[in-house]
Amino acid sequence: MTRVVAPGGTIGMLGGGQLGRMTALAAARLGYKTHVYSPEADSPCAQVSAAETVAGYGDQAALARFARSVDVVTLEWENIPVQTVAFLSQFVPVHPGPGVLAIAQDRLLEKDFVNRLGIATAPWRPARCPGQSGAAVQEIGTPCIMKSARMGYDGKGQVKLTEDIAPVDAWKSIGGVDAIVEGFVDFALEVSVIVARGQDGTMAAYPAVENRHANHILDETIVPAAISNETAAEAERIACRIADALRFVGILAVEMFVTRDGAVLVNELAPRPHNSGHWTMDACATSQFEQLVRAVCGLPLGSVERIADAVMKNLIGDEVDCWPALLAEPGARLHLYGKAEARPGRKMGHVTRLFPLSPPGRGPG
Ligand code: AMP
Repeated sequence: MTRVVAPGGTIGMLGGGQLGRMTALAAARLGYKTHVYSPEADSPCAQVSAAETVAGYGDQAALARFARSVDVVTLEWENIPVQTVAFLSQFVPVHPGPGVLAIAQDRLLEKDFVNRLGIATAPWRPARCPGQSGAAVQEIGTPCIMKSARMGYDGKGQVKLTEDIAPVDAWKSIGGVDAIVEGFVDFALEVSVIVARGQDGTMAAYPAVENRHANHILDETIVPAAISNETAAEAERIACRIADALRFVGILAVEMFVTRDGAVLVNELAPRPHNSGHWTMDACATSQFEQLVRAVCGLPLGSVERIADAVMKNLIGDEVDCWPALLAEPGARLHLYGKAEARPGRKMGHVTRLFPLSPPGRGPG
């Protein structure tokens, strides 16, 4: 049953980063208020929200007060503890819910879920202990990548293994925690598809985009991805299939590899707005952030029509210092996140440049 939160209502946001901030801005445009819950004060999201709770994710008294002050809860960080979301769910609808989060927080559960749908990933094995790490590397072969199953992002908790690295040393180097060993994919390019799914199961997928990384952090998103129409349709179909199977409500990003022979392999899921969807703010009829608001509030999803080609460039660390030049550049759309300190590797903002819409039948295929 759809539970509509009409404009004027309050959206609770777990996590205070830039994804929450841009969601709060989209919510405000539709007449909603945002109440952000974050352990850190003066977060990028709090700066643009109507209310702020600064408390830990385990603080049940603060969580209960927060839950009673909002009409619906969503999140902008997938590592919000599952117990926090389950606790809040007793008082108020939370989208996405604890079941989805449990899967998205654990690479082993995530890959298993995707494979059970008949969707391909890199070959993988669990490595939960020294013995398993050796067996996993032997079965997958080198080169391969060992990743911590939980809490990894932007290349953290990952190590590439060649035959001269002992699996046990690799396992210890990522903290001796539950891990996954994945075959190394010699991909042609990395793509992602962002799909919105409403409470009634309606879905809307944005076109597949190409993601280029620098130092394991997303550097640029290129829209549309230079892949054949068939490959783009396959990537979009995969994202919708996963969202549907999860009975997802909100915004789901599916990161994928496209191999040199055109196969599409799922790498990772993100159950929230995604950096590779920032271009939608400037080049789509409806942004991913507005789409999230619509989905969790039970409103009809907006059009995902692309009105321009686009290149989104992240401004990482001191790259943000070029803001005066970007402001002077005609047509450059600058977004800054209100973060005081430009530490290395920190996402400070992004800039999107638009280009004429590529004709139908885009891509080399
Ligand atoms: P992840 O944290 O899983 O998103 O990985 C971060 C980045 O590492 C990806 O965007 C890829 O560039 C690279 N990577 C991850 N897994 C693999 C793999 N199995 N084969 C090749 N490259 C990978």
